[in-house]
Amino acid sequence: MAYRKVERPALTLGEKLYLPAILKGLGLTLKHFFKRKKFTRQYPEEPTVVPEGYRGLPVLVKDDEGRVKCVACQMCEWVCPPEAIRIIPEELAVGNTIEKGPREFDLDTLRCIFCGLCEEACPEEAIFLSDKFEFAGGSREEMIFHKEKLLDLGGVRAAGAKKWKKEGNAGFHREGPIR
Ligand code: SF4
Ligand code: SF4
Repeated sequence: MAYRKVERPALTLGEKLYLPAILKGLGLTLKHFFKRKKFTRQYPEEPTVVPEGYRGLPVLVKDDEGRVKCVACQMCEWVCPPEAIRIIPEELAVGNTIEKGPREFDLDTLRCIFCGLCEEACPEEAIFLSDKFEFAGGSREEMIFHKEKLLDLGGVRAAGAKKWKKEGNAGFHREGPIR
């Protein structure tokens, strides 16, 4: 490949002194200092508003009747690239049948990369990436969020999939684990 030699234009006396450029920069700074709208924010007193679709902390949700939507299918655990999710399923007595739910559901927030694949994979719309981005802890153990904490953070999502409202099972209610 042939290269073309580019001649740099010679610097003027002002450019060699750098003073005009420095004064121009200072002038711009002063203009912003006195006139322009400030872009800095007094965080955390002024909270950050994240844009729609922001991918923050994954959380678990309940339906509008207070039932855990997760059925412990472990799809999210399987699809999660950094293996941030750990689920231990359990059998639940529901009416005359046996259903499945999570006995333990741990999310390692130090591993999570907020990719959203768990939300994409979930057939029950039970896990969502929330707008929460402020979470901290004093140890690695504190940064592993357990089921109850994830459910508290997620709250209720009435819309979407509703496993417990199957046709013909209108009276279904979750009675608890089989030990
Ligand atoms: S957002 Fe991605 S990394 Fe985080 S738990 Fe879900 S699948 Fe795993
Ligand atoms: S959150 Fe969804 S994908 Fe993960 S185990 Fe529960 S139902 Fe399955």
